[in-house]
Amino acid sequence: MNTTQAPATSLQDIIAHAKEYGFVFPSSEIYDGLQAVYDYGQNGVELKNNLKTLWWKAMTQLHDNVVGIDASIFMHPLTWKASGHVDSFNDPMIDNRDSKKRYRADQLLELKAEEYEKAGDVARGQALRDELGRLQGAEDMDGLRNLIIAEGIKDPISGTDNWTEVRQFNLMFSTQVGSVAEDASLIYLRPETAQGIFVNFLNVQKTGRMKIPFGIAQIGKAFRNEIVARQFTFRMREFEQMEMQFFVRPGTEMEWYERWRDARLKFHQAVGLPAEKLKFHIHEKLAHYANAAVDIEFQFPFGFREMEGIHSRTDFDLKSHQELSKKKQQYFDNDIDEATGKPYGNYIPYVVETSVGADRLFLAVFCNAFTKETVGEGEQQKERTYLKLHPALAPVKAAVFPLVRKDGLPEKAEEIIKSLRSEFRVIYEERDAIGKRYTRQDLIGTPFCIAVDYQTLEDDTVTIRHRDTTEQIRIPIRDLKAYIGQEVSMERVLEQM
Ligand code: ATP
Repeated sequence: MNTTQAPATSLQDIIAHAKEYGFVFPSSEIYDGLQAVYDYGQNGVELKNNLKTLWWKAMTQLHDNVVGIDASIFMHPLTWKASGHVDSFNDPMIDNRDSKKRYRADQLLELKAEEYEKAGDVARGQALRDELGRLQGAEDMDGLRNLIIAEGIKDPISGTDNWTEVRQFNLMFSTQVGSVAEDASLIYLRPETAQGIFVNFLNVQKTGRMKIPFGIAQIGKAFRNEIVARQFTFRMREFEQMEMQFFVRPGTEMEWYERWRDARLKFHQAVGLPAEKLKFHIHEKLAHYANAAVDIEFQFPFGFREMEGIHSRTDFDLKSHQELSKKKQQYFDNDIDEATGKPYGNYIPYVVETSVGADRLFLAVFCNAFTKETVGEGEQQKERTYLKLHPALAPVKAAVFPLVRKDGLPEKAEEIIKSLRSEFRVIYEERDAIGKRYTRQDLIGTPFCIAVDYQTLEDDTVTIRHRDTTEQIRIPIRDLKAYIGQEVSMERVLEQM
């Protein structure tokens, strides 16, 4: 077969495909949607669940010192005071008075720096980034506004520089608990899942008799009132995080930081993301709680962007919780310190965090799988679109088709489905010509299509078609389970990590 890769995919193609084939829908679409909120459809939820399962297994099954929890979204309000979110989880925002549009001041300046760099003036781009960093560090909002004006930055919609003041905008959503107004108190929707792990550190350590180093993993929703929410599921106001906090002895954190950084990169490669589309981005400017930080970036259609963050968070969080809660967050380490010949004793552990957005990972995997090829030659040439998902991630593992809707073929197909469905997600398809049925499955990434024909009735064999090559082979029905099972197995993915 002669195949050529079609031109690069745009985000618009991805959004359209995700919607048309039941992966991602805009939230409450019948009311024209809600900005930066999305729903996963019948195929999307399967793909996302498969990614979450793989992450969960990679964390809690491949490491005997990592356990999972599931903490609540609501937490005591002091949690967010301790974590620093009440005081400093802000983005600087600026409005254009003519277009009435709101922007992140730092992003406007970053785009300008990028512009200089793209035009070859790297030094000017860097100088602008340095100045931005300095102003942000000093929380100088007037300085940011002046810089935007001095750089001649105009609103892309109105074309004017009629900017408002720059104001800090806290990204946490808040609501009230309590039924009576007077009793009500302010409560936040968690902006990260990590704090649910920190406040349970001692519960897990004591009840699980965990010995340092050990980790606690969690998958759950997080909420951020993002000012500029675009780029589809890349930046949402309600999203899902998969986070792990790994508690270590102070002084050993860099070793663990490096180990986890490498393990997480391997994970992304094992789920099918190619090495050339992944890279590390080391943070020069560190968050208040970190002493080292790196992002794993993926090449989305709009460029390399953060997909996962790995942070060495020191003892910042546990220490703050200890201060505010007045409850000791210490661990007694009875291993012997060779330097002193005595046990290491009591200390607040240091923490290495790995934090990946389930939705960003989903988007990365989806963009990477979206394939358009021109196949055939001359008159026969046509375009083929399919989702080249790792079979372990595919929403449907196999579709079973009777060649025709009569002569006992549908019944035979049903029998095959019954024999497979306790093991994998298989579906039955009899509408339209067989070619169309193959196309429909290609579009949702089904790795195998099984066709039942007249020969099946005679010798209990079927044809099985591979999505990526479109090649078909004939195999006995009794071999189907093992044949498909091997290809779609999550164990095989985990073995590569
Ligand atoms: P960004 O700089 O893109 O806003 P961040 O550095 O604030 O991200 P973290 O706080 O480190 O992100 O969160 C960890 C992970 O959670 C990110 O790597 C990303 O995958 C995911 N994430 C964060 N914010 C969002 C969002 N608004 N929508 C979807 N996923 C998100």
